[in-house]
Amino acid sequence: MKSLDEYLADAAQAHGHLCAGQVLGVRMAMLGVQKLGIDDPRGKDRKRLVTFVEIDRCATDAIAVVTGCRLGKRALKFKDWGKMAATFVDIANTRSVRVAARESSKALARGMHPEIEDKNQQQMLAYREMRDDDLFDVQWVNVELPPEEMPGYKGERIVCARCGEGINFRREVQRAGETLCRACAGERYWEPV
Ligand SMILES: [Zn+2]
Ligand SMILES: [Zn+2]
Repeated sequence: MKSLDEYLADAAQAHGHLCAGQVLGVRMAMLGVQKLGIDDPRGKDRKRLVTFVEIDRCATDAIAVVTGCRLGKRALKFKDWGKMAATFVDIANTRSVRVAARESSKALARGMHPEIEDKNQQQMLAYREMRDDDLFDVQWVNVELPPEEMPGYKGERIVCARCGEGINFRREVQRAGETLCRACAGERYWEPV
């Protein structure tokens, strides 16, 4: 694994700036990967890891940088829960660890560096210095990962009976004898204009 500073440099480049979220995300991912005993998540261990992120903020980009898990590789799973937490799944050993940022870390950052007025600067520095135990809660968990959720899953491509668009990865829905995409089954997030 690289050092915190090396990952932060990579994260700043990928994300476009360095911020408190990058520090938090890099440290969260480094801790998760270390707990799983994975040394080289972007190299020799790159097919061992799936990461669930629970928020779509700055930290998420940093987590992707450290783990190498990306949406397009199906190794990054997004749960839109608005929580600063991620679960790291070791596919090889079927064990998983969830790392959540402690809500108290913001107040602790204020206490550590009251001399820094800018909150982002204050947290950036404090999140570098803080002990893992002060920054995160860590929990061993079990994650069910069915075959169609695995990064390398290859399945039949289905065509929606209504719109005719193709559907991968068993995302089709059976509704009154029809095979439908999620949009046609009523989960549409858009309306035609
Ligand atoms: Zn940011
Ligand atoms: Zn459809």
